[in-house]
Amino acid sequence: LWQDVPLAPPDSIFQLTAAYKADTFKDKVNLGVGAYRDNDNKPWVLPVVKKATSILLNDEALDHEYLPITGLAEFTNAAAKLILGSHSPAIKEGRTVSVQTISGTGANHLGALFLSKFYKWNGPARIYLSNPTWDAERWLANHHAIFRNVGIEPVEYAYYDPKTIGLDFDGFIDALKTAPERSVFLLHACAHNPTGVDPTTEQWKAIAEVIAAKKHYTFFDCAYQGFASGDLDKDAWAVRYFVELGLPLLVCQSFAKNAGLYGERVGALHLVSPNTETANRVKSQLSVLQRSEISNPPSHGARLVSLILNDARLFEEWKRDIETMAGRIIEMRRELHRLLTEKLHTPGNWDHIVNQIGMFSFTGINPAQSKALVEKGHIYLTGNGRISMAGLNTHNIEYFGSQLDAVVRG
Ligand code: PMP
Repeated sequence: LWQDVPLAPPDSIFQLTAAYKADTFKDKVNLGVGAYRDNDNKPWVLPVVKKATSILLNDEALDHEYLPITGLAEFTNAAAKLILGSHSPAIKEGRTVSVQTISGTGANHLGALFLSKFYKWNGPARIYLSNPTWDAERWLANHHAIFRNVGIEPVEYAYYDPKTIGLDFDGFIDALKTAPERSVFLLHACAHNPTGVDPTTEQWKAIAEVIAAKKHYTFFDCAYQGFASGDLDKDAWAVRYFVELGLPLLVCQSFAKNAGLYGERVGALHLVSPNTETANRVKSQLSVLQRSEISNPPSHGARLVSLILNDARLFEEWKRDIETMAGRIIEMRRELHRLLTEKLHTPGNWDHIVNQIGMFSFTGINPAQSKALVEKGHIYLTGNGRISMAGLNTHNIEYFGSQLDAVVRG
């Protein structure tokens, strides 16, 4: 038995982390994994999360019973308000279905599974994914695999333009226009992974216009609310705008990054329906799917986030913690840009470093240069030239800048 099972390649991001850990070079730098690090390269437990944890620990009434199938209602209701806005027409009119999921990955999966069963496909079941998308190893993991696993074929739409290291806006619009009516497009709500390139407000409006005209369905993936700009509302702008326009959509939400709860797997799937009656039917089917997959979602992380979202003081404190993280990342972007342009006079234009947004930056270097950084510089990054800005700090940024300068000069 199993003799014919081929050996799968190891996950490239986790392989990169293992290689980094095994490296004994004292100035090694890990820019691979998308997890926040403080200025001393340490994981950061948000002070507000520490407070919420101690409240939970002291709660004598707490038990370990199962949560409802769709999760902790105090968490999902508050999470819906966080992404859709507390005055969202969809929430007020009772047309939003919110289900607690295994972080953002689980939300993507449940959303994909639901579409695979119930979406009225116009032709073969297909999802349009940005080129590139959340997939360290193209096509193998994350978005592509999540949809392929449930029988939805991924196809790519133009997104990133290597020439400008920015958005291929015309290509994107063209893909929206040429796709058959009622196609499903996955859009990163903010802080696009891996490029850090987001549409501007004006560009979002134009995108929404074509989506409306072609009756496309929007599958929003929002893994970085607050991380892009430091402002939770600003980063939710595109989602809220689409809801205001009445466009059909769902949103996958993760609290891994903005609450630093990576391993706790806290997330939600929000599906906006045309009316309450449809919402109830959708919710009943999502419950059936969830029951067969995970039965009930985990309670600890959802309780923490629920405390933070539902308590005005903790919520304000969380916003400050998010500003701390986003602010440090923005500071690192500025400093790297300064080093390359003013100190090292590295050939090329580096403005994209400060124009891009969120945890990641696409440096624009090629795979050979990325490889050289790993092998010669002990700087660990993915082969597509993506760096996690959170891996840079005031102690290693000069070293990184000088190594990047060296590989660019060749
Ligand atoms: N979507 C995107 C675009 C992401 O970058 C991530 C995190 N890397 C996720 C979803 C989900 O991550 P998690 O399952 O840890 O919430």
